[in-house]
Amino acid sequence: MTERKLSARSLLDETAIHESGHAVVARALGVSVAQLTIAPEADTLGSVDFTATGADWIARAVESGIVMCAGREAARVLLAQAHNCGDDWDRERLAAIVDRLIAASPKTDKRKFRSRLLATMRSRARTLVREHSATIERVAHALLRQGHLSGAELDALIATQEGGL
Ligand SMILES: [Zn+2]
Repeated sequence: MTERKLSARSLLDETAIHESGHAVVARALGVSVAQLTIAPEADTLGSVDFTATGADWIARAVESGIVMCAGREAARVLLAQAHNCGDDWDRERLAAIVDRLIAASPKTDKRKFRSRLLATMRSRARTLVREHSATIERVAHALLRQGHLSGAELDALIATQEGGL
């Protein structure tokens, strides 16, 4: 099967890769995804509705942080050149997640802990993006065709590509 290789020609392509990165990495972590879309709204180019399922709030916060990093990492890994825009909301949410984790930590060097936490989340997101890059491309193509995918449609695409995660 030949598929058109995505390039960063259009912002729509990049948005599709970005949102697919969030969604596929979420599923790889066992995070549930209700839907994803590349239909622009007032302050977003697209979005993924996800709910972390970890055993406690710390596990759920770490999962959410990795998912928040995955959009940008997907664009970086899969596109030769990324615009790096439409990313503000992710960064705000990520900062809020990291703030909560730091507030709960007994560690005294909060600044060092913050940068280590961010680096760990980004690197975990990047590794998962690399492992699932073919699936992210497949989901992005489906998003470009349909504009929107339900959680069930996402899981069906993942299962077709990977035989289930
Ligand atoms: Zn995003």
